[in-house]
Amino acid sequence: MKEIMVVAEHRQGSLREMTYEMLACAADLAEGFDCTVSALVLGKDTRPICDALDGFAHQIVEVQDPMLEHYNADPYLTVLAEILSSRKPWLTMVGHTAMGMDMAPALAARLHIPLVTDCLEIGWAEGGLTTLRQVYGGKVDERLRLKPAEQYLVTLRPGAFSAGQGISEGPVVEKISPSKWEQLRGRRFLEYKVLEQEDVDIAEAEILVSIGRGIGKPENIPLVEQFAEAIGATLSCSRPVADKGWLPKSRQVGTSGKTVKPKLYIALGISGAFQHQAGMKNSGTIIAVNKDPKAPIFKVAHYGIVADLFQVLPVLTEKLKK
Ligand SMILES: Cc1cc2nc3c(=O)[nH]c(=O)nc-3n(C[C@H](O)[C@H](O)[C@H](O)COP(=O)(O)OP(=O)(O)OC[C@H]3O[C@@H](n4cnc5c(N)ncnc54)[C@H](O)[C@@H]3O)c2cc1C
Repeated sequence: MKEIMVVAEHRQGSLREMTYEMLACAADLAEGFDCTVSALVLGKDTRPICDALDGFAHQIVEVQDPMLEHYNADPYLTVLAEILSSRKPWLTMVGHTAMGMDMAPALAARLHIPLVTDCLEIGWAEGGLTTLRQVYGGKVDERLRLKPAEQYLVTLRPGAFSAGQGISEGPVVEKISPSKWEQLRGRRFLEYKVLEQEDVDIAEAEILVSIGRGIGKPENIPLVEQFAEAIGATLSCSRPVADKGWLPKSRQVGTSGKTVKPKLYIALGISGAFQHQAGMKNSGTIIAVNKDPKAPIFKVAHYGIVADLFQVLPVLTEKLKK
């Protein structure tokens, strides 16, 4: 039976959401192809990570070694190359994260496996793996059908897939002995530095109120802040607002900002350029307020209000409070 292997990503003892997103994508694909889904966990103390994966994969492959405590391309690549060469999973999924971007191309080159990066969809047609990705900063959608191959490697964009409910109870756990480390080139992990961040992570927010250039001037922001507070939302923005320094860069949504997927996204005075849409179009419910009925944001909004945002805010506050 074919195997889809998801390389679990964890940091400081916690699984990253990306892992569940990849497992959900793998589970969907596996359903149609009679595949098994396995999660590959590399680390020093892998037990809590494996426990957190219970029910999300048919099989967990655990590789425990002090060398794997923190992500370091050298030992990770050594172990992954060995496992992929011996088990030959049909499809290996890695997050399109700093780790995945660093590791996947080197792994593909080392094993001569076809690689597609930053995928937004994965499928299967006419005997080949199909993917959807974006090029030219999101202006063009590129659909690829790969030539038939024994193995494929893909990186998936964080936030492009929804984490699922899980597929199995009590997966089989297979422990693999770590590799010998002689061939390592000497990259060493020195320290883990947490970015000093007084700010919130907009990617974690359930409700986002996002402001664009239509806010006019920074003096108007407190008005929106009050609105956001009233409905328990976090404030985010389009790029011009961050570029002008009206809100920190960490609040920017879009291709050069963050990809977000809140339950509710309220876009105020945002035109909806494709670079912005790419970062928020998968939100649960999108409400857009814009004076211009032709603003592209209305193409992705579930509810659109063509009006001056300053007139709409008090009404919205009342309605959403209810
Ligand atoms: C390489 C690259 C990367 C980029 N990355 C990003 C990114 O990550 N995120 C991002 O957002 N952009 C990004 N951009 C910029 C993007 O192309 C747009 O320029 C930007 O998103 C526009 O922001 P905006 O909608 O706030 O402003 P505008 O396009 O100027 O739109 C303002 C909107 O507000 C409306 N408006 C004005 N006044 C009011 C009012 N009183 N009430 C209601 N509506 C009002 C107007 O009708 C208009 O639609 C990127 C661009 C490039 C080239």
